[in-house]
Amino acid sequence: MAFMKSAILAILCIMLSFSCAEKSAGDEVAGDGHQMEFQRIDNTPLLHVLGTLQDGGAPHMGCDRPCCRNLFLRPATNRKVVSLGISDRSEEGGELAMFEATPDVAGQLHALQSSSGLKDVLPSIFLTHAHIGHYAGLMNLGREVLGAKGVPVHAMPRFRAFLETNGPWDQLVSLGNIELNPLVADSIVQVTKRVQTIPILVPHRDEYSETVGYRILGPSRSVLFIPDINKWALWERDLKDELAIVDRAYLDATFFDASEVGYRDMSEIPHPFMVETMSFLSALNASERAKVHFIHMNHTNPCLSDTSSAYRQVLNAGFHVARIHDEYAL
Ligand SMILES: [Zn+2]
Ligand SMILES: [Zn+2]
Ligand SMILES: [Zn+2]
Repeated sequence: MAFMKSAILAILCIMLSFSCAEKSAGDEVAGDGHQMEFQRIDNTPLLHVLGTLQDGGAPHMGCDRPCCRNLFLRPATNRKVVSLGISDRSEEGGELAMFEATPDVAGQLHALQSSSGLKDVLPSIFLTHAHIGHYAGLMNLGREVLGAKGVPVHAMPRFRAFLETNGPWDQLVSLGNIELNPLVADSIVQVTKRVQTIPILVPHRDEYSETVGYRILGPSRSVLFIPDINKWALWERDLKDELAIVDRAYLDATFFDASEVGYRDMSEIPHPFMVETMSFLSALNASERAKVHFIHMNHTNPCLSDTSSAYRQVLNAGFHVARIHDEYAL
């Protein structure tokens, strides 16, 4: 029986390898159609990059610089606030999850449902912290918009208490639009049938909530997601060790270098600059460096343009910049 199964799988694999008529999700499928490295032969759970920007998105309120000037006239569909989606399809249908509920959540949910083919499925939601880019999208679940019923929302204890006791979020709880699920740091939680996650505390400005990153565990691959963190040296864990136990990492890339913040002292800015992260990891071998995908870019970050010299510098150093609509087989 096992032999039959693997024989059928092998045949399927060969058939799919030669089929180019249909779009099939691969390990590395980009929205702009860049090279597919592998073919997917089953319903492997997928991670979907739904947004790559810092909280304020782009165009960014009040920005009159070249980075946003044209976006006020012609908004770009690829400029969305940071979020990852998970799809886990099965014979019976499937499940969806979203990491973060951003101000761009309407388009991001639509993108996740369309690309996974799970058009009527609502995702469960995992939140990192109470800064507006990461949770304000919850407002769309209320009676003014979706009127959702019992969407599972996972948050750390302080964050959960904040949502339960402050408007407008408390109304989502009292009307049953969302169902709050407690998270415990370093404890494993089921995301979908075949995907799990572990919240990991990270240092950040914690006015209203703790801040966590997530290790996301699929049946074959795992991913580290840390969209917001203070300097790596202030973390009680070692980024290199955390990188070693995953296959890919989406890491805070708010700012590229000092020139982006008017040459202020980089040590004063509570984020690891991309140049700092690259220098910190520069001694790692190429396969470790290649795991890093920078995300959560400020509207001013030159890496938002793949023709910038900063973007080339990142790629030449062996790192990647996360791209919206990319999919990664878990
Ligand atoms: Zn943020
Ligand atoms: Zn701007
Ligand atoms: Zn934040």
